[in-house]
Amino acid sequence: MSAVALDSGVPRGVSGSGARSRAAESADNIPVIELRNITRTFVTSGGVEVRALRGVDLKIHIGEFIAIVGQSGSGKSTMMNILGCLDKATSGTYLFAGRNIRNFEPDDLAWLRREGFGFVFQSYNLLPHSTAIQNVEIPAIYAGYSAEERRIRAEALLTSLGIGDRMDHRPSQLSGGQQQRVSIARALMNGGNIILADEPTGALDSQSGAEVVTLLKNLARQGHTVIIITHDPALAEHADRVVEFRDGQVISDRRTVDEELPAPGNTRLRDMFLNRRIASPLVGIGEAIRMAMSSLTSNVFRTFLTLLGIVIGVASVVAMMAIGQGASQMIVDQISSIGTNMLTLQPARIEGQRGPSPSTLTFDDADAITENVPNVIATLAEIQGSYTVRYGRQDYSSTVTANSANMPEIRNWPLSQGVYFTREDSDRYTAVAVLGATVADRMFPDGGNPLGEYILIRNVPFQVIGVLTRKGGSGFGGSDQDDAVFVPLKTGALRLFGQQFARSISVAVEDISRISETENTLVEFMTVRHGTQDFRVFNSAELLDTVSASQATFTMLLGAIGAISLVVGGIGVMNIMLVSVTERTREIGIRMATGARQSDILSQFLSEAIVVSAVGGVLGIAVGIGIGLLLRVVGAPVEFTTAPIVVAFCCAAGIGLIFGFTPARKAARLDPVVALANE
Ligand code: ADP
Ligand code: MG
Repeated sequence: MSAVALDSGVPRGVSGSGARSRAAESADNIPVIELRNITRTFVTSGGVEVRALRGVDLKIHIGEFIAIVGQSGSGKSTMMNILGCLDKATSGTYLFAGRNIRNFEPDDLAWLRREGFGFVFQSYNLLPHSTAIQNVEIPAIYAGYSAEERRIRAEALLTSLGIGDRMDHRPSQLSGGQQQRVSIARALMNGGNIILADEPTGALDSQSGAEVVTLLKNLARQGHTVIIITHDPALAEHADRVVEFRDGQVISDRRTVDEELPAPGNTRLRDMFLNRRIASPLVGIGEAIRMAMSSLTSNVFRTFLTLLGIVIGVASVVAMMAIGQGASQMIVDQISSIGTNMLTLQPARIEGQRGPSPSTLTFDDADAITENVPNVIATLAEIQGSYTVRYGRQDYSSTVTANSANMPEIRNWPLSQGVYFTREDSDRYTAVAVLGATVADRMFPDGGNPLGEYILIRNVPFQVIGVLTRKGGSGFGGSDQDDAVFVPLKTGALRLFGQQFARSISVAVEDISRISETENTLVEFMTVRHGTQDFRVFNSAELLDTVSASQATFTMLLGAIGAISLVVGGIGVMNIMLVSVTERTREIGIRMATGARQSDILSQFLSEAIVVSAVGGVLGIAVGIGIGLLLRVVGAPVEFTTAPIVVAFCCAAGIGLIFGFTPARKAARLDPVVALANE
């Protein structure tokens, strides 16, 4: 084997005299890669300048099999990274198929890496959580092949490289030689026009190393351009050309074979490059989601933690809003059940007076209001107390109310059995009682008929003459309106309460639109009648408005608490995504080396954030509804409405987008060579 100096080698600046250099003059024979005076200077974190390449000239033609040799630290890897467009030269010119790449956009460089190059690394650089076939498919994902095309081609490549039976194994389940074959298959996936192999045998035993070199040699014979770095001179001799580096410079460039290089018939790459479609489609949304899912399932615990924040956030929004909604509905219902056309008078201290509320409202006041205040249909004077009611041997404590005969009408509360007492019953102090549904059920279980029976209230016998229909509205915080016993006003005043004053007088107005006016007249009338304002008036319509408004505020407040936990969840997503980017820097480097654009990386990490958040959103809604239903069983007022559920879900997905963006952009902006060097 005699060495043939090539024009790109030493001595620099001297044009070689080989057949190749003359052919290079013709347009068809432009070198696929031409480097002119390339330098690369690193500035270490300590500010020291390291000149890794000090002016390299090199021409590489299609179909060549080149070995780059040299001592450790001589700049071989730096050279390789620049050749493969993973790194940019500090100065000098890089012509790819005759085109200067200096002004190439990152996407153009990604295109070159994807369609032009195939990388084989000493440490294989396979994704540890992906199977052999998935690793091989990666470059084709970014090239836009369909899943079917990818699988067929990857299977064919793995089979032809002799590891067809290991396709579903993960890298950790493969030997070094097998892993290197997987990475060669990956390099070939998009065509592998120029294969750059940085110490491909460095981590292999001599047997596997020799096999890998034979593989690469065969590829070169098939028309691939193969550039391999090796420190093993024996392996280097397999190459057609050996370029030796020392201290960042080419010190020798020789051919190991005598025969003429094969005619450079393979102009496909150059044509492809000149006609390239930079705007090849981005990785599809389905593919992005699939990749997101597989990377999320590869670290289940971390994904679970990320999810947890979102789930808690969404669940608390959904549950809080449902409780707020339920609570306000309950209060509105309770006020409405009193009737919205009501003014209620209660005794009050005169201004400046101290002590307990005085008894000021008489039963006659009630009648006088009905007669004298316009727009009043009826009044209802009431006295109330809590007493033990006894039937036979059964004691039951309930609210006893003495009021007038028109209660069922005013409260819109009909009887289910028997009759309500009359005005005569009251005037004659008759001892009769009407039971609320709860009391009737408790004291007369098993369908016993209470009508005609005698019950004892404070040891006074009362005959039951009626039972009211059930009003409902029981539960958490709200009192059971059916837990009540009613007796005639004067009977109750005399025999139970021992006082002739009403605890309240309810005034039903006829025309609700004039309720405020009626309220004023009522206050005036009563002030004149009593000589002083020793009462106060509640307007149920106004009360309903006020309560509804404050309940809406309350609901919003609960929603806000939920929203805060959602934001906290979002920050959790961001945090974990940032960690994930740091942790997966090498993966990002591998993806970039195989041709991923910045936008592909961005969309991958964004998809992961959105998928996590959306899944968290769905789980959160389920958990929130679950909590709500549980609370409802316990008796809390819970009311689900669609709006908060939809909003919470959209917020969760949106939070994925917003909080996932920064980490995703961080990932996309990584420098491929820096990312790859990350351990
Ligand atoms: P080889 O692959 O031949 O062993 P390299 O190309 O890896 O050599 O390195 C060439 C020189 O550049 C070495 O001195 C190395 O320390 C230095 N170098 C390589 N990469 C960096 C970097 N990122 N920062 C600083 N110095 C670097
Ligand atoms: Mg190296």
